[in-house]
Amino acid sequence: MRQRHALIVGGGIAGAMTAMSLHKAGISSTVHEAYRTGADDAGAFLVLFHNGLEALRTVDAHRAVLDVSFPAERVEMLAHTGDSVGVRPVAGGGADDTGTLGPRTLRRATLYRALHDEAIRRGVTIEHGKRLVAADTAPDGRVTARFADGTCAEGDLLVGADGLHSVTRTLIDPGAPAPRHTGQITVCGYTPEVPPEAAPPPGTYRMIQGRRAFLGCTAAPDGEVWWFANTPGGELDREELATGTPAELDRWRDHVLALLSEDASPAAEIVRGSRGIVATNAYDMARTPVWHRASMVVLGDAAHAAAPNAAQGASMAIEDSVVLAKCLRDLPGVPEAFSRFESLRRNRVEAVVERSARLNDRVVPRPAEARKGPGRDDDSGSDWLLDYRIDWDAPVGDDAGARA
Ligand SMILES: Cc1cc2nc3c(=O)[nH]c(=O)nc-3n(C[C@H](O)[C@H](O)[C@H](O)COP(=O)(O)OP(=O)(O)OC[C@H]3O[C@@H](n4cnc5c(N)ncnc54)[C@H](O)[C@@H]3O)c2cc1C
Repeated sequence: MRQRHALIVGGGIAGAMTAMSLHKAGISSTVHEAYRTGADDAGAFLVLFHNGLEALRTVDAHRAVLDVSFPAERVEMLAHTGDSVGVRPVAGGGADDTGTLGPRTLRRATLYRALHDEAIRRGVTIEHGKRLVAADTAPDGRVTARFADGTCAEGDLLVGADGLHSVTRTLIDPGAPAPRHTGQITVCGYTPEVPPEAAPPPGTYRMIQGRRAFLGCTAAPDGEVWWFANTPGGELDREELATGTPAELDRWRDHVLALLSEDASPAAEIVRGSRGIVATNAYDMARTPVWHRASMVVLGDAAHAAAPNAAQGASMAIEDSVVLAKCLRDLPGVPEAFSRFESLRRNRVEAVVERSARLNDRVVPRPAEARKGPGRDDDSGSDWLLDYRIDWDAPVGDDAGARA
C-alpha cells in the first residue's frame, strides 16, 4: 500500500507531536507553520502533568522535554496574610516506584523548540511562513491546503493543529463556535532576584490566595521566580496586552501590584522585581460540535480549549496527537479513523474544559478548593485525569467508549 501523507497545519505542541506520532505509525507528514521563525511565547510557562509526559513517552519524545524542564514536587498554599495553610505533594509529583514521570515546568517557547527540534531530528519537514487560508477536498479524499503566500500543498489528509483561533475549524464547519473569553487576563512574569524570605522553596509551587488576585509561583533552578497571576478583566487587543517596552512592562506590573496591595503575603515582593511579563487573554471553548469533515480533522486547542486554570491544555494536545496517530494506523479509511479518534477523545477533553471552567469561576478561589491546587479534583486518590495512559501497541478498540 502507498504510504499516506498528512498535511499538518500549525507547528505548535499538537503539530510537532502529531508529526512524530504519525511517523511512528508509518505515515509521513509535513508541518505548515504560519510564523516565520516559531510561535510566540503566549502563556509564558506551563506545567506538564504526568498524563502529558506519559503520552510523550509513548512516542519516545519525553527525554527532549525532561532535559529542558524542572520538577514540580509540592504545592504550598498561602493565605493573603502570608500564613501557610498547608503543603501537599503535587498530584503525581515526585518520583514513584512505578517510574511514572512527575510534573515538570518549562517555558512554553522551550517546549515548542524541544518538540520542533525532535521532530526535525526524526526527519519531519517543518515549513515556516505557511499560513493556511483555505482547503479543498477532492472526491477521492485528497486534500489541497492553500496558504496566504499563494502556495499550496497536497496530501491524503489534513490535521488542523492551528490552535485556539483555528482556521481549519471553520473550514470544517463554517458555523463552528468561536472561543469564549473567560473574564480573566493571565499575567505571567519572571523575577530574577527575590529575597529569600519571599521566594518559594525549590520544587514547590506556592499558591497565594490574595484578596483580589490569585498568584502562583515557583523557582527555576537558577533561582529566578516564575509567577502567574489570575486577574479579572475583559478581552484586550494585542496593543493593550503588549509588555515589550519599559512603559508597558511598568503598566502591567503596577496593575498586578495594585491588585495585591491589600495583602500581607510575599506576592507583591515577587512581582515588584520582575523583568519580563507576558499578559494573555484567557479563553475556553466548551464544545466544538464538528471535529472532522472528509479528510480534515482538528485536534489540540483547535478542537477543545480549556481555560489555563487546570494546566492541562498542552497535555491534552499531546494525548490527542498520539491517539489520532493510532487511529490512522489501525483503521483503513481516513473518515473512519477520524470518527474513532473523536469517540475516544471527546468526553475526556470536554471534561477537562469543564473542570478548568469551574476553577475559573473565581479569581480568588475558595480555601477548600484552593488547597487542592493543580491537578487534583478530590482527595479520593483516584484520578481520571492524571492516571490516563495510552498503550501504543494495543489496537484501537471497536466500541465508541474504548480506551485509547
Ligand atoms: C496563560 C496560559 C497558561 C497555560 N498554562 C498551561 C499549563 O500550565 N499546562 C498546560 O498543559 N497547558 C497550559 N496552557 C494551555 C496550552 O498552552 C495550550 O493548550 C497548548 O499550547 C495547545 O497546543 P496546540 O498545539 O493545540 O496550539 P498552539 O500551541 O497554540 O499551537 C498552534 C500553532 O498553530 C499555528 N497557526 C495558527 N494559525 C495557523 C494557520 N492559519 N496556518 C498555519 N499555522 C497556524 C500557530 O502559530 C501555532 O504555532 C496555558 C495557556 C495559557 C494561555
